[in-house]
Amino acid sequence: MRAKFITLQRDIDEIIGNCQVCYVGMVDENNLPYVVPFNFGYKDGIIYLHSALEGLKIDILRKNPNVCIVFSADHKLHAQSEQVACSYSMHYRSVQAFGEVEFVDDHDRKIEILNMVMANYTDREFKYNEPSLREVRTYQVKVKSFSGKIFGYVK
Ligand SMILES: Cc1cc2nc3c(=O)[nH]c(=O)nc-3n(C[C@H](O)[C@H](O)[C@H](O)COP(=O)(O)OP(=O)(O)OC[C@H]3O[C@@H](n4cnc5c(N)ncnc54)[C@H](O)[C@@H]3O)c2cc1C
Repeated sequence: MRAKFITLQRDIDEIIGNCQVCYVGMVDENNLPYVVPFNFGYKDGIIYLHSALEGLKIDILRKNPNVCIVFSADHKLHAQSEQVACSYSMHYRSVQAFGEVEFVDDHDRKIEILNMVMANYTDREFKYNEPSLREVRTYQVKVKSFSGKIFGYVK
């Protein structure tokens, strides 16, 4: 079975919609990679993230906002023959998203971003207190290009 690339935005959006975690890859000032798992929100080609105000990833992203974000869903182990290691494979649907991180400091927009993140995990509505809001950093990535790939699935 061959892997297939998918190009329809609705198929890419569906894969992202089936993920609870994304992996944000960045490159530091020494040209070394750094990848961190994140919870996220997503709508209309924009990925929403939040974190503590400071940390290594923030230091890196301030200097180089370019990111490659990976989403991976529907993992299923498959074997043609259980005795043959090389016949095992992992069925999956996955997406890479390329873009630049923009930090969002505006108070009301911050709340919107937190709501976008929470909406990926629960239907509840939330209120945020001001001290907590001040302690959180929100950011967004307007995706410039996507690559979608599936293996073991028709679509
Ligand atoms: C499923 C999942 C969801 C998460 N969601 C979020 C989120 O939405 N927002 C968020 O800010 N963080 C999230 N985290 C935590 C995140 O992956 C980072 O650990 C955290 O953001 C701190 O990153 P930093 O670069 O600021 O680390 P720092 O605290 O500055 O890093 C200190 C050291 O810890 C190491 N380190 C950092 N993160 C990890 C890690 N995940 N595993 C192993 N070593 C690590 C670094 O290499 C560094 O040397 C999530 C983690 C998981 C597993």
